[in-house]
Amino acid sequence: MGLFTAKPKSEEIEAHERRLALPLAKPAKIRLENVSVRFDTRQGQPAALENVSLAIQPGEFVCLVGPSGCGKSTLLNIIAGLLPAGQGQVYKDDVPITKAGPDRAVIFQEAALFPWLTAVQNVEFALKSVRDKKARRAKALEQLQMVHLSRFADSYPHELSGGMRQRVAIARALALDPDVLLMDEPFAALDAQTRDVLIGEVQRIWLETRKTVIFVTHNVMEAVTLGDRVICMGARPGCIKQELDITLERPRAVEHPDTARFAQRIMANLQDEIAKIVLEESDFVEAERARGRDDDPDRVLYPHTNTMGDGI
Ligand code: ADP
Ligand code: MG
Repeated sequence: MGLFTAKPKSEEIEAHERRLALPLAKPAKIRLENVSVRFDTRQGQPAALENVSLAIQPGEFVCLVGPSGCGKSTLLNIIAGLLPAGQGQVYKDDVPITKAGPDRAVIFQEAALFPWLTAVQNVEFALKSVRDKKARRAKALEQLQMVHLSRFADSYPHELSGGMRQRVAIARALALDPDVLLMDEPFAALDAQTRDVLIGEVQRIWLETRKTVIFVTHNVMEAVTLGDRVICMGARPGCIKQELDITLERPRAVEHPDTARFAQRIMANLQDEIAKIVLEESDFVEAERARGRDDDPDRVLYPHTNTMGDGI
C-alpha cells in the first residue's frame, strides 16, 4: 500500500483538486462528492471506491480508465442510480440521484437486446411514450439511421454481428434522448477492427448530439481517442489517480501518433497501478496457498500488463 500513499501528489491530481475547488459557471451535469462504497465479501469490506469526488460538465465526454476491479462499473452504476453511494453525495444538475431514470441511458458490454424483437422493434421499445405507432416507427428508424443500420431494421439480434447489436443498443439509448449517456466497456467484446469503426461512430454521434458521455474502458487508446478528459483510476481502494485533458482536435483517429503520445502518458501512470495490483495479487495467492486454498474460484487473474490497448 505504502507504494502509492507515500508518493507526493502528482501534477494531475493537483489539477484535479483545483478543478473541483473552482466555482463553476453553471452546475456540473454530474457531481460526486466524497463517494465511498464497500461491498461485503469473504475478505471483509474492502473499499470498492474511497472518497471519490468528480465534476463532469454538460456536453463533456469523459473516459474512465483503470485496471479490472478499480471500481469503474461501480462508479458508473452509482451515476446511473442502479447502486446507492454508501457514503457521499451524487448529483445530476445539482439534484441528488436516488434512482435510475431515462435521463441517464446505460450501454453495457453485451448489448442487452430482446431476442424476440427486430432491431427497429428493440429501438421502439425505448419509445413507448410515443403513442402514435407511425411516429414511433419513424423515430426508431431515424435512430437506426444515426448508427448506419437502417438496412437491418427488420433483422433479429441473432442475425446481426456483435458490432451491429451494439449499434442497435446505442440507437435504443439515443431514442430515449437522455441527458447523459453512460457506457460501460461497450466495445470490449468486439474485434479490433469493429471496435475502431464504432469508436469513429460514437465520436461522430457525440459531435452531432453533444450529449454528456461517461465512457468506461480499460483500453487507453480508446479513451484518448474519445475523451475530452481521461480519468485514471487506481484500485484497492478504488480512487482517482490522475486526470488528463485531451486537447487533440476532432475527429481523432485511433492510430494517430498524437493519440499514442497521450496514451503513453496515461500508461506510465497506470503501469505503477497495475504493478501494485499484481504484487498484491501474488501476496494474496501466497497467503491462500499457505492456507491450502490455491484454487479459489473467485480469484481474479490480471492479464499481462505491458500493453496500451486491451488487457491493462
Ligand atoms: P471494474 O469495473 O473497474 O472492473 P467494479 O466496479 O466491477 O470494477 O468492482 C470494484 C470492486 O468491487 C472489485 O473488487 C469487485 O470485486 C467489487 N465488487 C463489485 N461489485 C460487487 C458486489 N456486488 N459484491 C461484492 N463485491 C463487488
Ligand atoms: Mg467493470
